Amino acid sequence: MIELWKKFLEQSKNFFDSSTFDIWIEPMGILSYEEDTIKLSTPNDFFRDWINENYLTTIEGIFSSLLEKPVKVIVSTEKSNIKEPGEKKLHPSLISRYTFENFITGPSNEFAHAASNAVVNNLGNQYNPLLIYSNVGLGKTHLIMAIGHAVYQKYEGINILYCPSQKFVNDFISAIRFQRMNEFRERFKNVDILLLDDVQFIAGKEANQEEFFTIFNNLYEKKKQIVITSDKYPKLIQNIDDRLRNRFEWGLVVDIQPPEYETRVAIIKSKTAYHNVTLPDEIIHFIATNINKNIREMEGALTKLLAYSSLTKKKLNLNLTKEILADHLPKENHVITVESIQKATCDCFQLKISDIKSQKKLKKISIARHIAIYLSRKYTELSLNEIGNKFGGKDHSTVIHSINKVSKKIEEDESFKKQVEYIENLLKKY
Ligand code: ADP
Ligand code: MG
Repeated sequence: MIELWKKFLEQSKNFFDSSTFDIWIEPMGILSYEEDTIKLSTPNDFFRDWINENYLTTIEGIFSSLLEKPVKVIVSTEKSNIKEPGEKKLHPSLISRYTFENFITGPSNEFAHAASNAVVNNLGNQYNPLLIYSNVGLGKTHLIMAIGHAVYQKYEGINILYCPSQKFVNDFISAIRFQRMNEFRERFKNVDILLLDDVQFIAGKEANQEEFFTIFNNLYEKKKQIVITSDKYPKLIQNIDDRLRNRFEWGLVVDIQPPEYETRVAIIKSKTAYHNVTLPDEIIHFIATNINKNIREMEGALTKLLAYSSLTKKKLNLNLTKEILADHLPKENHVITVESIQKATCDCFQLKISDIKSQKKLKKISIARHIAIYLSRKYTELSLNEIGNKFGGKDHSTVIHSINKVSKKIEEDESFKKQVEYIENLLKKY
């Protein structure tokens, strides 16, 4: 399968230009190849949808010609278990990108980073268990996997088990159902280092906790290293057995905070360098300032930006960036006014604002006017008369007429509905 993937990558270079290849094709991995169906992994939903919409046919074509028969390709967001070609010292069941080298440190995460490093150098001795907690998207999984990769490199033949808690819960349930408890327990028996990600998922599930408690104790007694991540400080995880909570605090508990501005800039630069692109400083500054609570979101925004520029070949500038990233930007303080609605609507219909304030009856103008009035009613607190005034002194029955007309047409006409939605989307940026 890896061979097939390598051949595919080789061939793809003839079909995609190099930036498309770097950004979209190479980061994928092959998950399975069964019965004329190939399953590929992608890092996130956006990536998957993008591939499906833009490259799927070409990808299927390449595979079909390599295998000399028609094959179907399914793109998924499951994690790839296959080693990426060329990277030899990485643990095969961990995400290859999640290494210490790719982890940018700053005041927000350096304690967690240092503790993770210490664990690698002092397995089972110093900080056991190590518990890392933070909000989502701040690097817990990255760090716990980095420990896995580093241990894999450092200690030959060591038995590493990475286990997301959801998987622990699911496997445990099916073990009971299919009477495979022995098999389940066997998996944990000879583990040298257990990496349990997102432990909060075993909260509220008693039998699971009981089982994990036993596993924990067995490993701990044998001085095997345990690393746990959680979305909360142990004391704040609800519905978890006190004995377990207590054990979580035996070792070292460290947190990761949202990154500071400088760290965010460094992370953005490292991600763009990874893709061999450079962004103007003002764009980096813009992203780092506006998307600041979640690194995953920051990455999502970057992916979208790079995709856009690679596909359209347009040079990115600040305004374009704002447009592309509109959905990613905070909207709390954004007030929608009649004026911004008029502007968005006129831009969309390529009219002058004076047109929709006029009495002109040209079809395009009256449709735009109806829509702008409808949106003014929807998004502002103004009365019908106040809205009428802002449209060149229309009376309130005219305003009601517009609102009814648009509401009705939205129900009946899908493309009209899309057009109104498009303007609503524009409003976020006006
Ligand atoms: P969590 O498990 O806390 O929800 P992840 O570990 O999945 O968060 O991180 C989300 C994304 O952000 C990942 O793609 C990860 O590589 C990236 N990331 C998080 N922290 C850093 C960092 N310090 N340096 C570089 N990338 C990071
Ligand atoms: Mg995680």
